[in-house]
Amino acid sequence: MSEDRSRDQDQERPRTPRCPLCGKPRVQRFRPFCSARCRDVDLGRWFAASYAVPAVEPGYDEDADED
Ligand SMILES: [Zn+2]
Repeated sequence: MSEDRSRDQDQERPRTPRCPLCGKPRVQRFRPFCSARCRDVDLGRWFAASYAVPAVEPGYDEDADED
């Protein structure tokens, strides 16, 4: 099991992985980001995007199916 892990790390070496947000070299602990901050920013964006989609359009007539 430990052998497989070290091999995995070797395979990730070829190119320098970068933080997708700021482009700095990423940190193993926070990958694929460089820091907890960038990770949180990405998480925040993700949540913001999901919240940005309105479940019900404003002005939608809720009594429509009662007619
Ligand atoms: Zn970053």
